[in-house]
Amino acid sequence: MSDKKYDPRMHTAEHILNRTMTEIMGTARSFTSHLDGKKGKCDYKFSRNLTAEETALLERQVNGVIVRKTPVTEEFVTRAYADEHFNVSKLPEKAGDAIRIIRVGGYDVCPCIGAHVGNTSEIGSFRLVSSDYAEGVLRVRFRLE
Ligand SMILES: [Zn+2]
Repeated sequence: MSDKKYDPRMHTAEHILNRTMTEIMGTARSFTSHLDGKKGKCDYKFSRNLTAEETALLERQVNGVIVRKTPVTEEFVTRAYADEHFNVSKLPEKAGDAIRIIRVGGYDVCPCIGAHVGNTSEIGSFRLVSSDYAEGVLRVRFRLE
């Protein structure tokens, strides 16, 4: 995350969506994302669009994590540890040797330099608005209500 204007609630929802996409769809985490106010979009490498059933399932699972009032916590590990245990490809080089790891309870863990809420109860209701597919990229649009 390099965009400084985003809402921590939106960005934390993005963490949960990424984990949910890996679990339900088997994708990697989004390779690009853009957050603008209460609207966000995440791009995943995939082979087709989501079905209506998958869209509903993803939305339900993300909201399931949010309503459990899950704590969002940070810890720091060495760069060597992070290289071995996490995908650090989205971290800038200047992240240095102390790498910040963000946990959404026991649901998700990811290295990140961004701003997050302290508890998922702050996020509100997640709505998966739409998705489309083109040339190997599945774009998922969401917003918070
Ligand atoms: Zn983050």
